[in-house]
Amino acid sequence: MALLKHLSYRIQVKGLVQGVGFRPFIYRIARKHKLNGWVENRNDGVIIRAEGEFPDLEGFMRDLETDAPLASRILSVTRSLVEPELIQGFEILGSSDISEEITEVSPDIAVCSDCLEDMEHQEHRIDYPFINCTNCGPRFTIIEDLPYDRNRTTMSVFKMCSVCESEYKNILDRRFHAQPVACLNCGPQYRLIHNGEEYADLGTIIPHVARLIHDGEILAIKGLGGFFIACDATNEEAVRRLRIAKDRDGKPFAVMFSDLTQLKSYAIINKTEESVITSWRRPIVLVQAKKHLAPDVSVGFKTIGAMLPYMPAHYMLFSLLDIPAIVLTSGNISEQPILIDNEKAMEKLSGRVDALLDYDRNIYNRTDDSVVMVVNDRVRKIRRSRGYVPTPIRVRHEVDRILATGAELVNCFCIGKGRQAIMSQHIGDLKNLETYRFYTESIKQFMKIFRVEPHTVVCDMHPDYLSTKYALESGLETIRVQHHHAHIASCMAEYGLDEKVIGVSFDGIGYGDDQNIWGGEFLICGLADYTRPCHFEYIPMPGGDKATEEPWRMAISYLYRFFGEEFLSLNLPFIQKIRGHDIQLILEAIRKKINCPLTSSAGRLFDAIAAITSLCTHSDFHAEAPMRLESIIEQGYDEEYGFRLQEKISFEETIRGVVADVVSNVPRSVISARFHNTIISLIFAAVSDLAGKSTIRKVVLSGGTFQNKYILERIENRLKKEGLEVFIPHQVPANDGGIALGQLIVAAKRKEISCV
Ligand code: ZN
Ligand code: ZN
Ligand code: FE
Repeated sequence: MALLKHLSYRIQVKGLVQGVGFRPFIYRIARKHKLNGWVENRNDGVIIRAEGEFPDLEGFMRDLETDAPLASRILSVTRSLVEPELIQGFEILGSSDISEEITEVSPDIAVCSDCLEDMEHQEHRIDYPFINCTNCGPRFTIIEDLPYDRNRTTMSVFKMCSVCESEYKNILDRRFHAQPVACLNCGPQYRLIHNGEEYADLGTIIPHVARLIHDGEILAIKGLGGFFIACDATNEEAVRRLRIAKDRDGKPFAVMFSDLTQLKSYAIINKTEESVITSWRRPIVLVQAKKHLAPDVSVGFKTIGAMLPYMPAHYMLFSLLDIPAIVLTSGNISEQPILIDNEKAMEKLSGRVDALLDYDRNIYNRTDDSVVMVVNDRVRKIRRSRGYVPTPIRVRHEVDRILATGAELVNCFCIGKGRQAIMSQHIGDLKNLETYRFYTESIKQFMKIFRVEPHTVVCDMHPDYLSTKYALESGLETIRVQHHHAHIASCMAEYGLDEKVIGVSFDGIGYGDDQNIWGGEFLICGLADYTRPCHFEYIPMPGGDKATEEPWRMAISYLYRFFGEEFLSLNLPFIQKIRGHDIQLILEAIRKKINCPLTSSAGRLFDAIAAITSLCTHSDFHAEAPMRLESIIEQGYDEEYGFRLQEKISFEETIRGVVADVVSNVPRSVISARFHNTIISLIFAAVSDLAGKSTIRKVVLSGGTFQNKYILERIENRLKKEGLEVFIPHQVPANDGGIALGQLIVAAKRKEISCV
């Protein structure tokens, strides 16, 4: 009568369960609990049939929830009792393509420690740099379609050798159904091109590369999601040459340290920073420097964009290098997308670098390195790409078949699938033609991989954004969402908020309802709409977009506003740096209102202060002036300048205070501290005022300005002390890279309302 106790479950597991060793894991725990049945990968999740005795089935269910593979993420497990089929043994069935629903695609995973060990012992993988297993290796970057199987990846062209095949088919092997499985005999190979010679012998290529780096040469190196440019991060001359090779790109370079010990000798990191730096996602983490690499790496900033090795080749290289770190910066030239194609890389980079290291596995989904920072012990995304994308953001509303096209400068788009918002990888500045092509191709790729045919497109209100034009040309129903509303809604979506909140939306530029350029906004936001109780006073922005590259223009604009032409006799040193003729032209433009759009932007106020203090009159890269201003802050300084909180917030006292300090030679670092404290006090005063006039207790802080660690740390703590609940973007960036999520949720909410 043993059969009476014999039960059969049909179990469906949804979440990130493909490409992370989930089926072998199921197999192992099924065997452990003496269960019969099968497991099948389908595009809507993993289906399990498990038959056995009740206590064993319960044990299996427990293990399923607690012991799942590191990179997997179970969102739901549903089980139902079905008629037992008296199956013998446990089997892994092939993938089948069942429905329109899909399960998640895994982001790329850094090489695991077991594989690193295999590289020393496994005969067919000694020093093999494309080693991987079910727990590690490339994923999103090589996936062309779902369900995740080798023939739907860029590994399909490599025919597995018999040894790899036997591992792939052996349920007890760590490479069981590891789709990119490969070895020395059958997998991808590196190729080095140096001085017109091609080298293909793996045994000598990496030592050769190490020698070149030691000698101060610059190399293009193909990574997981694209090409990178590398050199010795301690070699002043090499880093200087690298900067020239990248068309004098002014941004700080990211650095890969050989290991955690070296990283810690160059940077001060806390526990949270350490855990994200060493996580399998391996992002670049902005940390505080304590020792200098070559000066051109950080271009005067006190932070380092630090990361650890994540590909086998990185480890091999460092084992031969006698240096603590290499520069590893995106292989792109002036705002173009990171290169992924071998031929293109040859064409565009070979004239700029001394050698090029590529390999013969294609990259399907271009993915830059991710950048994060830790503020008040939480990870904040600055650029969400490799290691994070395409993990969906779970939202409270039905967002199915909505495509949000994002902003323009730091674009990411987002597609809705059920209640999942799937954010794209970092795309970049759409004004660049190549980047725009990357954008439109990626939208197509996402539609294919995730099986979404949009019926609604959402975009910004800015008429000139290419993402707006893309939406309007789609021929589909189009919904437009104000930029700063989208910033706040993006954070609301992350935390599942659907109520009125106080939104503080500070950034550089966003098109306003009144056609002015907004960016210093206090809003009362719901998901569907918002009001704007107060904002920074409007100020002319001479030359429009040109002002973002030349902060001195905003300085002139602010000074003229409060001092009239008398500011010219104030003896401000920065004025000597600007040609008198140029200043006159700007004054003329302001007076005659020629190409002087009005702006309430916070970013432009920071620009003005950076210029008035002569810290940054011309900027070499996006948001340089505010970043430099933050980086010089004198710590432990509480004083601040005045401001006038009213419907149109006036910074007259602030500007007068800064000018007085500059004239009396107060150190810039002190001026910067006072200015930042002013902004913190202003936010606190405005939010307290709005909270006092309402019953709202939830505050959302978003927009690029909230990447300012000094401000974010302090304002969050101050508002919390006041009993307010503070929400800050965590999963997606606070900058325009997070806009698409906000657009998506606003559109979903508006559609929901219009249906009722
Ligand atoms: Zn592995
Ligand atoms: Zn093989
Ligand atoms: Fe913005």
